[in-house]
Amino acid sequence: MDTAYLTLRGIHKRFGAFTALNDIDLSIQKGEFVCFLGPSGCGKTTLLRIVAGLETQTSGAIVQAGRDISVLPPADRDYGIMFQSYALFPNLTVAKNVSYGLVNRKQGRAHIDARVTELLKLVGLPGSEAKFPAQMSGGQQQRIALARALATSPGLLLLDEPLSALDATVRVHLRNEIRDLQRKLGVTTIMVTHDQEEALSVADRIVVMNHGVIEQVGTPMEVYREPASPFVADFVGKVNRLHAVAEGDHWFRCGDRRLQCLPGAGADFRPGAKVALYLRPEDRIVGGVHERDPLRCQGTVRHIEFLGGNCLAAVEVDGLGGQRMQVQYSLNQMDEFHVHEGARVSFALRADRLRVFCAAGGA
Ligand code: ATP
Repeated sequence: MDTAYLTLRGIHKRFGAFTALNDIDLSIQKGEFVCFLGPSGCGKTTLLRIVAGLETQTSGAIVQAGRDISVLPPADRDYGIMFQSYALFPNLTVAKNVSYGLVNRKQGRAHIDARVTELLKLVGLPGSEAKFPAQMSGGQQQRIALARALATSPGLLLLDEPLSALDATVRVHLRNEIRDLQRKLGVTTIMVTHDQEEALSVADRIVVMNHGVIEQVGTPMEVYREPASPFVADFVGKVNRLHAVAEGDHWFRCGDRRLQCLPGAGADFRPGAKVALYLRPEDRIVGGVHERDPLRCQGTVRHIEFLGGNCLAAVEVDGLGGQRMQVQYSLNQMDEFHVHEGARVSFALRADRLRVFCAAGGA
């Protein structure tokens, strides 16, 4: 039996001859925080708008809390929504903005006032009832928009790139607050974002989309550690891609080197197949590597990208036909192993983290 709170079944969306969504199947459990993640134009906003009834799917069904809502107008669905552009009414006070949905539901005055007070407290802006949106910062306006989205205690909270108009510090702060609030209220939430770091940091599960299809659904750890496709590996986090040719039995020729991957790294490609070996910059061993370790690499540091607590060294690895790898070092490791531009370094690839995909795409 399907115990999901929200189920999308076979959702297709065409705009004229253009297919924006192709056969989307997805189940979301009650209380989950799910992110739709993907590049611009992949269809994530369209999918969210279909859930909200602001866009009509060409075919497919949507079931929320056991109710088929596929053809219901937005007003008859049970959700609150928050957009990228705060979409507050500039001529209305904060209290009137927040209570908009409640007034529409013909709630009593005392109840509405108490609810507005409660919501403003919840989003960290108590006492701001009489202000106007223009008197508030972008981050504060987005909190008001969040309070408004939550006003009717909806079963589903829909967030359409709610943080992308904010500057970096406010964005990180607010995303944590949204996450905390979501946990506290237990409201099932879908957030659209093109920011992989944002999705990794807040989501229970991430739906990675590309060209109107779902590439992978998984926890942040699954999507990062076990990407289902080269697209996911490239889009979520930094990754090294080494071009290689399969030799069979999980052996691969990479430049002048022969590397053996674990059976779990991917399919055993037929000999001669062009593949790409994927490895995250942190999936290397930098200390105590045995000289005869078959995955030991030596190379010259060509460039260092400083990232704060650690750095990425672009290393031209000997014997890989000039291919470079990004290798992550903490600042302490940089000191310990004398990592600087022009330095010779050695490290070993982590066999258990290597993944192999067909070079043309697909595992
Ligand atoms: P972004 O992050 O840029 O908003 P997205 O992943 O949310 O991208 P959508 O807005 O869902 O993408 O759009 C998906 C595709 O559908 C795009 O190619 C877009 O041009 C197209 N599209 C969206 N709305 C319409 C429309 N009303 N008419 C025609 N094409 C549309």
